[in-house]
Amino acid sequence: MDTTFATRGLDDRIYDSIVIGAGPGGLQAAIYLGRYNRDVLLIDRGGGRTSHAHFIENVLTHRLISGMEIIRRGLEQATNFNVQIKTDRVTKIEKDGGLFTVFTAASAYRARTVIVSTGVSDVFPPIEHLHRFLGTSYFTCIDCDGYRTTGKKLVVTGNSLNAVNLALAMKQMFTKDTTFIPYELSLQPSSSEVLADEGIPVVPGKPVRIIGAKVMEGLELEDGTRIACEAVMASFGIRLNDDFLSGLSLKKDAGNAHYVTSSVYESSLRGLYIVGPLNTGQDQVVIAAGEGATAAIDINKQLLEEKEGRGEICSLAEHP
Ligand SMILES: Cc1cc2nc3c(=O)[nH]c(=O)nc-3n(C[C@H](O)[C@H](O)[C@H](O)COP(=O)(O)OP(=O)(O)OC[C@H]3O[C@@H](n4cnc5c(N)ncnc54)[C@H](O)[C@@H]3O)c2cc1C
Repeated sequence: MDTTFATRGLDDRIYDSIVIGAGPGGLQAAIYLGRYNRDVLLIDRGGGRTSHAHFIENVLTHRLISGMEIIRRGLEQATNFNVQIKTDRVTKIEKDGGLFTVFTAASAYRARTVIVSTGVSDVFPPIEHLHRFLGTSYFTCIDCDGYRTTGKKLVVTGNSLNAVNLALAMKQMFTKDTTFIPYELSLQPSSSEVLADEGIPVVPGKPVRIIGAKVMEGLELEDGTRIACEAVMASFGIRLNDDFLSGLSLKKDAGNAHYVTSSVYESSLRGLYIVGPLNTGQDQVVIAAGEGATAAIDINKQLLEEKEGRGEICSLAEHP
């Protein structure tokens, strides 16, 4: 046994897998691994993107469920399969001699494999009361919440060409009453033209405040102008929650926006899997969960092969 960990008062166990992030991706992976009777540690700092999702309507068998409820049920389910859960923030990962060490501010844990499912964070502009309405009438994802704006008085705002495309899509699919506010964005003539052709009014200005106590009534611009609206769909980009991966030189795509993984979500570093929007850019419950399950099945296969000291064994799910 390596005594270094024990003498430093650290957890001297070697887990089969450490899962980082308790959103749908990480929870689903942990549940699969727990049901293979693997030693699994799930580390989560709390307050991820799923916790902002108040109304999730596109998950099979749930007419409506909140993100917090998915997390609560997922943690309970994982615990039932003996997954160890720690609330902490991962700061660094190292790999040495086939073993990973996962560091948090106060501790360190070792494992044969790691699943990273830490998701992304929205970039929020400084608009007063934004968080009061986040997930109920201030939205950032057309796949998640576009439908909820159906027939409503909508403002689309954002600081890139993506926001223009978002306004066009929102008008086509959800509401004819769409107004566009370019946020610190000079519109190209071609963008102005297409918005005009589609009958989308453009209001120049910078939203600084959302008006309304419980229900959104409108947006106040920097110059005091008030634009009435019932919902806002915003596009200010996202950032990856991946600062702790910087020491590993993992392969990213050409735009440096996402991690490159295999079809079973293994990164360019053997044994380290990355699921959810960090690799695909798709930030959806069922997609993250499906990737988590796929990664867990592959990890279990890897662990079986390691233990047996054999080469590749066929998938346990394969039928003749
Ligand atoms: C307002 C809103 C509405 C949404 N609506 C829908 C919807 O209707 N349908 C849908 O499918 N999806 C919806 N989503 C997206 C969905 O909630 C998730 O973002 C998505 O399922 C991805 O899950 P994930 O597990 O990859 O990441 P997340 O759910 O983002 O989970 C990542 C976890 O990792 C943790 N973490 C991050 N960094 C660290 C670290 N260094 N150490 C430890 N832990 C860390 C975070 O705290 C978080 O708990 C919505 C999101 C938002 C914001």
